[in-house]
Amino acid sequence: MMPWLERPWQQLNTSFKAGRFHHAQLLAGLQGVGKLALAKGLADAILCENTSELLACGQCKSCALIAAQTHPDKLLVSSEGATIGVDEIRAIADFIYHSAQQGGNKVVIVHQAHKMTHSAANALLKTLEEPNAKRFLILTCDDVAQLPATIVSRCAKSDIAVQSEPQVRTWLMQQLGDYAEQPWINLFMSQPLKIEHWFETGQVEQINQLFHSIDTLNHAADVSQCVELLIKSPELVNEMGRFVQGRIKQALYDGADFAKITVAQQALVDFIKDHQQIPGLNLQLALLKLFTALKQALQ
Ligand SMILES: [Zn+2]
Repeated sequence: MMPWLERPWQQLNTSFKAGRFHHAQLLAGLQGVGKLALAKGLADAILCENTSELLACGQCKSCALIAAQTHPDKLLVSSEGATIGVDEIRAIADFIYHSAQQGGNKVVIVHQAHKMTHSAANALLKTLEEPNAKRFLILTCDDVAQLPATIVSRCAKSDIAVQSEPQVRTWLMQQLGDYAEQPWINLFMSQPLKIEHWFETGQVEQINQLFHSIDTLNHAADVSQCVELLIKSPELVNEMGRFVQGRIKQALYDGADFAKITVAQQALVDFIKDHQQIPGLNLQLALLKLFTALKQALQ
């Protein structure tokens, strides 16, 4: 278990052993903090026939089915896309309604529940309003503000976050060795699995390139490669924003003109707002506008 998941797990285990474990659990925290790993661990523990702890024993028949990834009483609902639709949520009601094939508990994980459409959330609410014995629902959510309050209020919520940077640093060194020494790593300490994912998928090259482009950004810099990279991988726009924020801070520290820095800061705020709120935004134009403002400020 990742060390920062230990504490929330302990709390859940305490309520489990006291017979107070809620049928609907909400794990809330930043993307890349390990919510899905914890949700899967909890699901396995709920299905395990050994119920002395909220931990899968690894020995029983249920645990063998889990290890073979063929446990019929476990359902994971998730979406690679932007939304989770109503059909996927209705399937949960069907799944829960039928009796457990192994005669024990049934568990559903809804990963990134904030992606649910309005009607999907309404369908889930119905399921939450009619709790069934031996049926458990575990939701993960990157941003609770995006979940209807009616859903949040029907779940037991656990906030998942890293507890200390040294702890994360040690963990990253164990996973990645010397590769964990990147100049940008401090900016993502609260999302360790995000960092791990970049290394596993090879995307770390792009992150390095992006960081370097922003770090060396000045009035004479050529930003065409950086723009090209972001057009190709628009999912990295938020990371770029964080690098720009760092670069602006550094410029201020180095004694750059305050008025110009304010203009650069505003350009970044405008860009992020447009990026989030304008569907079909011309990303290339928006990026060029941002970088032009930044170049003028970072002389
Ligand atoms: Zn077991």
